Amino acid sequence: MDQHMTIEGTGIAPGQAAGPLARPRADANRTTAAAPDLAAARDHVAQQLEQLAEDAWDATHADMVRAQRAMLLDPEWWDAIGRRTADGTPAAPAVEETGSAFAAQLAALEDQYLAARAEDIREVARLWVRALSGAPSASAPAGSVVATDRLTVSDLLAGPRVAAYLVRDGSPTMHAALIAQNLAIPVVVVSESSPLDAVPDGTMVHVDGDGGRVTVGSGAPTGRRAAAIRHGPVPWNGRAIEVRANIGSAREARAAAEHGADGVGLFRTELFFEAVGSIPSRQDQIEEYQAAVRDAGGPTCFRTFDLGADKPLAGLTPEAEDNPALGQRGMRLYASHESVFRDQLAALLAATAAGPVEIMFPMVSTLADWRYCRNAWAAMSAEHPPVAVGVMVEVPSLLFLVPELARAGVDFLSFGTNDLTQYLNAVDRGQGDVAHAVSPLAVARAVAYAARQARAHHLGLAVCGSLAADPKWAALFAALGVDELSVPVPRIPVVKAALADGARSATDLLAALDTHDDEHFLDWLHHP
Ligand code: PEP
Ligand code: MG
Repeated sequence: MDQHMTIEGTGIAPGQAAGPLARPRADANRTTAAAPDLAAARDHVAQQLEQLAEDAWDATHADMVRAQRAMLLDPEWWDAIGRRTADGTPAAPAVEETGSAFAAQLAALEDQYLAARAEDIREVARLWVRALSGAPSASAPAGSVVATDRLTVSDLLAGPRVAAYLVRDGSPTMHAALIAQNLAIPVVVVSESSPLDAVPDGTMVHVDGDGGRVTVGSGAPTGRRAAAIRHGPVPWNGRAIEVRANIGSAREARAAAEHGADGVGLFRTELFFEAVGSIPSRQDQIEEYQAAVRDAGGPTCFRTFDLGADKPLAGLTPEAEDNPALGQRGMRLYASHESVFRDQLAALLAATAAGPVEIMFPMVSTLADWRYCRNAWAAMSAEHPPVAVGVMVEVPSLLFLVPELARAGVDFLSFGTNDLTQYLNAVDRGQGDVAHAVSPLAVARAVAYAARQARAHHLGLAVCGSLAADPKWAALFAALGVDELSVPVPRIPVVKAALADGARSATDLLAALDTHDDEHFLDWLHHP
């Protein structure tokens, strides 16, 4: 193809990538024996998914795969299939038809997040049917731009690492898209009527996941995928910005170091509690935390357990509350479960033997909350080398208490923009469909206000919520004086590359705060 052609679509995972076009092909060597019956095929898929979850070093990816496994094992689905086969429908169509019916029910729900789970059921049904026939799975070579009908969780996690995907169907909140976003693999949905089908395999293609555009042919930009691994803090306007990792297990600490992390900015210890399924023993915690500190390749900032609301744990969080996100969550549970809290602090103290450790507390909303946490730690650690101790700024009240927190011994603030956005705007963080109720300008100004006070009091400043993983926001935070960004592991090279390439001055970025509405703010942030 001599000239280039542009195809307009919809981006569901951002980023830019280029590579030769490829359609997945079945690999005859990957054929497995057909399962003798429905139950054996289901067991085979359950095992496959469990293996995938165990191999996933990112805890959220593992959760998504386990959610698919739970769908597969849902007795309601099994019963529905049984009714079909009793009527004489063969096994594979029975799985397909019942799967489609369940998926259609979910897709019709108003809640966009739940509706996007429909695609998980369809994917599980396809895996089940494949196990029944023993047909080989299809894949495309590493580095290619893959044109396929749909994006799947298993291809993303188990297949070769490809440059980008072009799909017929999908939404930005489906699990596979969330994983692609996390892995920084751009994805564009291209309609069936587009000329893509006529483009031969091997043609060079550039995918713009931000603008939802595909450029095909010899004129296509060939820029390699952004984000080479880069070690060490990033020089930015005369300062050095650390980019650290958000993790939930020691296994992820190793992956973080391999991705060039300058340490761990947020170890969500409650994810380790959830993985164990109950309150872990002090010894188990010591082993997990020490392993993370050893492997992290830089200081490891542990957040004490943040259970409650969307992260329940039997025996620790209340059975039912009218409004759990505003109730017993994070450090609010510590006074009534003091021995669990103290055990964790003891384990964290033991982790300091393995390397540099920092500690912070979730859901602190008053000075009394802070003093409670600080005193518990001080009582335990008095005779040990000092450890930097900080708070998550995620409840808006803390925005107005920074000087007092500094005087009360806080060493650093870490902005949790996920909860700060939720509580500042009174919007449930899981409800994407009320996203129009969120003011990004207000969130930016809130961080700016507290950051200014924190700088005046020489506090360390970090951002560990999702906004830190967006390169434009990352630059804005740097301009606000934040010296550490903490992001999901796959985003580390992306954020480092963006900061290193960033041509915008702090003054230019800060002008975004003087815009007069959310639309102009976002425009300013994204298009100077
Ligand atoms: C946050 O609230 O931004 C945060 C980083 O914590 P979590 O997402 O675990 O609540
Ligand atoms: Mg939070």
